Amino acid sequence: MSHRQQQHLFDAAPTQTPWEDAADADHMCAQVVFNRPLDTTFSYLVPDTLREAIQPGQRIRAPFGRGDRQTVGYCVGIGPPSTSVRRLKHLDSIIDDVPLLSPSILKLTAWIAERYLCPWGQVLETVVPSGVKKLAGTRVETTFTAAGSARTALEGKLPPKQRTVLELLLTAKQPLGAADVREQAECGMVPIQGLVKKGLVIAGERRVDTYDLKELESAKTDDLVLNDEQTAALRSIHDALRSGQHSTILLHGVTGSGKTEVYIQAIREVVSYGRQSIVLVPEISLTPQTIRRFRSRFNSVAVLHSHLSDAERHMYWQRIARGDVEVIVGARSAVFAPAPHLGLIVIDEEHETSFKQETAPRYHAREVARTRAAIQNVPLILGSATPTLESWRRVQERQDTLIAMHRRVADLPLPPVLVVDVRNDPRMSQGASLGRALHTAMQKALADGGQVILFLNLRGFSPTIWCRSCGEALKCPHCDISLTWHKDRAKAVCHFCDYATDQPKSCPQCGNIAIRYFGVGTQRLEQEVRSKFANYKCLRMDSDSMRKPGSHDTALESFRAGEVQILLGTQMIAKGLDFPNVTLVGVIDADTMLHQPDLRSAERTFQLIAQVAGRTGRSERGGRVLVQTCSPDEPAIRLAAGHDYLNFARYEMKHRREMSAPPFRTMARVILRGPKEPHVYEASKEFATKLRTLAESLKLPVDILGPAPAPLAKLKDNYRYHFQMSADHIESIHSLWKAAVKQPFSATDVEFVVDVDPMNLR
Ligand code: ADP
Ligand code: ZN
Repeated sequence: MSHRQQQHLFDAAPTQTPWEDAADADHMCAQVVFNRPLDTTFSYLVPDTLREAIQPGQRIRAPFGRGDRQTVGYCVGIGPPSTSVRRLKHLDSIIDDVPLLSPSILKLTAWIAERYLCPWGQVLETVVPSGVKKLAGTRVETTFTAAGSARTALEGKLPPKQRTVLELLLTAKQPLGAADVREQAECGMVPIQGLVKKGLVIAGERRVDTYDLKELESAKTDDLVLNDEQTAALRSIHDALRSGQHSTILLHGVTGSGKTEVYIQAIREVVSYGRQSIVLVPEISLTPQTIRRFRSRFNSVAVLHSHLSDAERHMYWQRIARGDVEVIVGARSAVFAPAPHLGLIVIDEEHETSFKQETAPRYHAREVARTRAAIQNVPLILGSATPTLESWRRVQERQDTLIAMHRRVADLPLPPVLVVDVRNDPRMSQGASLGRALHTAMQKALADGGQVILFLNLRGFSPTIWCRSCGEALKCPHCDISLTWHKDRAKAVCHFCDYATDQPKSCPQCGNIAIRYFGVGTQRLEQEVRSKFANYKCLRMDSDSMRKPGSHDTALESFRAGEVQILLGTQMIAKGLDFPNVTLVGVIDADTMLHQPDLRSAERTFQLIAQVAGRTGRSERGGRVLVQTCSPDEPAIRLAAGHDYLNFARYEMKHRREMSAPPFRTMARVILRGPKEPHVYEASKEFATKLRTLAESLKLPVDILGPAPAPLAKLKDNYRYHFQMSADHIESIHSLWKAAVKQPFSATDVEFVVDVDPMNLR
C-alpha cells in the first residue's frame, strides 16, 4: 500500500474534533453510527453515569429519527463536542459490556464503507455476527454475595439454614450462582430468599455460557523438512515478520508445491511471538483434510465456516477475542476475526472469486485483508498457483513482493495436459460426453488400478429443455434463464431462484409435443459413465447430490479410500483436493467458461484447467489430464495445458490494457432492478445521464458505459439493467458517486445497487 493510500486510510477513521467552546469542555460526546442508508456520524452527549463505561466499539441506544425512538447504534468514537451542546441529545444506554470492535477494526470498517460505497453502519452490522450480538449460547444467572452487615448478623440469632448460607457466602471469593449455593449449603431457595429479604445477602446478575465449545483434538504431527524453494520462501516471510512492518507477499507456487506447509511454518513463527494468524481459504476448501492439517500442528485452532450455529460462532468469537486461539482458519468473513494480537494474515487460493461478497457490503476479502494488515502493521501472504491479474500487476509494479515456487514437492512433475479437439469426435457427434480419447484414457487408467476425476461445471441432467418444433427453450417464468432438467427429481429447475416445474408435456410456446433435452449436466454424465464403466464405482459430487450436511466429507473419504474409482462433479471437486492415486483427470467441456460474457472469462478458464490439473500426478504413479474443447487454439487453454502462467499473464495483461479493463482501470457496476421493465430502463437512463453530466461539471475523469440490459436480464421477477463506471483512480468514482446520490432519484419501484470491483458481471 502506498503512503498516500495509508494516509487516506487513517483520515477515514473516526477523528477527534478540537475543543470549540470552553463552556462545553466538560461535556463528553459519543460519535454514533446507525445501520441506516446514511453517510453521517451523529454526536450524543454521554450522561455522567455512563462516562466511565463508554468505549468505542460498543453498541448503544440513543434517541434517533422521527419520534426520537430509542435506536441501536455503534459508538465509533469519543471526544469533546464539536458543536454547541445545547443542540445535542443524550445517549440512553450502553448495550455491550466490552467493545465488540477494536479501534483497528473500526478503522477497517470505515475504510470498507468508503471503498465499497456503502453506509458505515451497514458494514458494522455485517462484521459482528448475529450470534455475537444476541449473546447466543449464554444466559443470565442470578448471583448472591454477602452484604456488609452479614458478619454482625452472624453474631445474633439466625435460622440454622440461613446461617450456613451466610457463612458460605462470606468465605466465597466471588458471587455464587443459585445452584452453587444450594449445592454447597445443602439447602433450597427459601433460606437464600429469606436472607435477601433481610438485606443480608445481595442478589446480582452475571452471564454464563450454556454452550460448551468442543475442542476437537487431533493427533499432533511434526513440521515437515522444507525443500529448497520452500525454505527460501519461508526465509522471506520471516524477514517480513521480523521487520514489524506491513508488506504483501505473493506466493506464486504451482499446485502441489507445498504452499500450505510454508504457511504453517510461517504461522509457527508468529505463534512464537505470542500472536495470532488468520488464514482465509475458499469455503469449498474448508474440508476436514484442510482443517486436520492445521489442528495437527497447532494447539488451538478456530475454524469459522458457514455451518456454525449462532452459539458456536459466539463462543469462537469470545475465545478469539481473549487471545486464546493461535490460528483462525475460515472463509471470507474470518478476515474480521477479533484477534487482539494479530501477527499475520494468509489468503490461500487468492484468485477465488468467492472472496468477493455478493451482497452489501460488497467487499473483497483480499482487499480488506490488505487494509487490515496495513492498519495493524503485519504481513499479508497471498498464495495461488494462478494469481489474479490484479495481484500480478501489483508485483510487477513492485508494490508487493513475489516469491515463486516452480516445482512440486519431491520434484514430482506437473502432469502432462493433453488438449483434445472434439469438434469432429465420432462419439460426441452421437451425443456422448466422453469423446474417443477420453474414453480410451479412462479404460487404461482404470485397468491399471488408478482413479479418475471428471470435471463438468453444469449440474442437473440437461441444461436446456428445448422444443424441436418452434425452437424455443423452456425458461424460468421469474428469471431470464433456461430451466435445467433434473432427471432424478423429474423437475425442470431454475438455477437462480430454484423454481421447479414438472416435465412439460408439450411446448408452452407452440403446444407441440416435441420436447427435447439438450446439453449435458453432471447427472447425464453420471448416467453415461455408469453405463459405459459398469464394472467401476462412480460418485457424483455437486450441490444437488451433496445437500445433506457431512455428505461432502463422506464422499471424499470413500474416494480417498479407493471404494470409488470415478469421481465426477462440478467445481466442488476442482479445489484443493489431494488424492495420490488419481492418474487421470478429464475436463468434459473447457469451453463453457470461455464463452461467458465476462472480462475475466479467459482468466477463469486458465485457472480452472490449472486447478483441475493440480488434482493429479501427486505421487510416483504420475498422472495426466485430458481437456475436451472446441477451441484448442484459444490461448487460455493452450497456455494452461503448458502450465505456462507467465505467458498467460503477459498475454492477458496486454489484452486488458488494450480494453482499458481491470487491473488497469478501476470499475464499479451499477445495477438497477424492478418489477416493471420500462421503469427500470427509464431509471437507468436517467441515472447514467445524471452521472455523465456530473462527471463533466465536476471534471471527474470517469467513463460511463451503458446502460444496457444486464446479461441476466430478469431475476426473481425483477428486470435488471446495468451500467459501468470506470476510472484510473477509485477516488474519482467515489467523488462522482457521492455527488450523485445526494441528488433525488425519481423512480419509485426501482432499486439500485453499486458494486465496486465487481467479480460477477451477470
Ligand atoms: P499446495 O498448497 O502448494 O498445493 P501442499 O502444501 O498441499 O501444496 O503440499 C502438497 C503435498 O506435499 C501435501 O501432501 C504435503 O503434505 C506435501 N508436502 C509439502 N511440503 C513437503 C515437504 N517439505 N516434504 C514432504 N512433503 C511435503
Ligand atoms: Zn428463476
